Amino acid sequence: MASVSFEGVWKVFNTFVAIPNLDLNIKDGEFIVFVGPSGCGKTTTLRMLAGLETPTYGSIRIDDEDVTLTPPGRRDIAMVFQSYALYPHMSVRSNLSFGPEVRKESRSDLNNRVEKVANLVGLHGLLDRKPAELSGGQRQRVALGRALIREPRIFLLDEPLSNLDAGLRTHMRAEIADLQRRLGVTTVYVTHDQVEAMTMGHRIAVFDRGRILQVDTPAQLYRNPANKFVGTFIGSPGMNILPAELARDGALGRIKCLGSVFSVPAERFFTSTDLPSRVELGIRPDDLHWTKDAPSRCREHIFGTVRATETTGSETFVLVDVDGVEVNARFPSFADIRIGQKADLVFDPNDLHFFEPESGNTLR
Ligand code: ATP
Repeated sequence: MASVSFEGVWKVFNTFVAIPNLDLNIKDGEFIVFVGPSGCGKTTTLRMLAGLETPTYGSIRIDDEDVTLTPPGRRDIAMVFQSYALYPHMSVRSNLSFGPEVRKESRSDLNNRVEKVANLVGLHGLLDRKPAELSGGQRQRVALGRALIREPRIFLLDEPLSNLDAGLRTHMRAEIADLQRRLGVTTVYVTHDQVEAMTMGHRIAVFDRGRILQVDTPAQLYRNPANKFVGTFIGSPGMNILPAELARDGALGRIKCLGSVFSVPAERFFTSTDLPSRVELGIRPDDLHWTKDAPSRCREHIFGTVRATETTGSETFVLVDVDGVEVNARFPSFADIRIGQKADLVFDPNDLHFFEPESGNTLR
């Protein structure tokens, strides 16, 4: 196991700055997920840790060792790619044992190690099959096993589940998280899927355009996003962002938003006295309630008209038009709601978030 730190790391491709000045500490034994939209620099950061890209400036340390220029083979890191990169002509057993054989590691206990890893990743009984004779999930397990057999200090996974169908992805998600818990290996996992990030990581680093906007536990990211980007990226559907006017009046923040007027406790949301008058208000779809089912603490209203509704049986998603602004709501049960119906959405002002419109930062 090992801790990792990126210190002032930049990656510039020709003139394109992919990563400007990254600082990040990963704890020993931690499972950290890099999440963000396509092209935001997750893979580049992972590849720099693996040694497959060299930082333009800055340094990377593993424990106390500066590995910025250490070749990949000497970092004691194993990586699983999206494509699996299995050898098609070799059996599962040979795919697993190939790395140690090439590295001329002792053969005496290799059979035992192969058996042990096969058991660990659920491949027992499949060792003599070729990759073409395996399902997608089984191939994924071979790729994991091939990385694990190295007993690396650090385990890197780059979108390892994106080739699997939705059901298998959910299953493998739980398997990988469980495996990491059992082995306790420091793990960095790259995905663009926020659900994967939220369900797997101890901490999540949210990337946008080469920068990390917030590194936090899933609960903190959800409840206390540092900015609008994180608020809207995390959650499905993401947070609603609505234009609002704010005026501080002693202990209260007075809010006007889409025809509704209400107050929030100022000390809960704002420590600064220098507040903008125009703000963006964020509210999660699950913090909006359908009038008759609302908890008693929800006393404020947003009125609109139902534009679309979708139910999975256990959840109902509703799109409401409020003065030309679309607002998403999610109710935790089947709700008999029709398109065109008047909507009275109720909420607790304590569940709101406020952002500075220009920077997108959460108001403090
Ligand atoms: P995805 O989820 O699509 O894989 P990502 O977040 O992993 O995206 P990166 O692959 O790290 O993104 O790419 C970050 C940026 O750097 C992108 O704009 C990409 O086009 C650019 N980039 C990556 N590799 C190179 C390269 N070898 N040469 C030039 N630009 C590159």
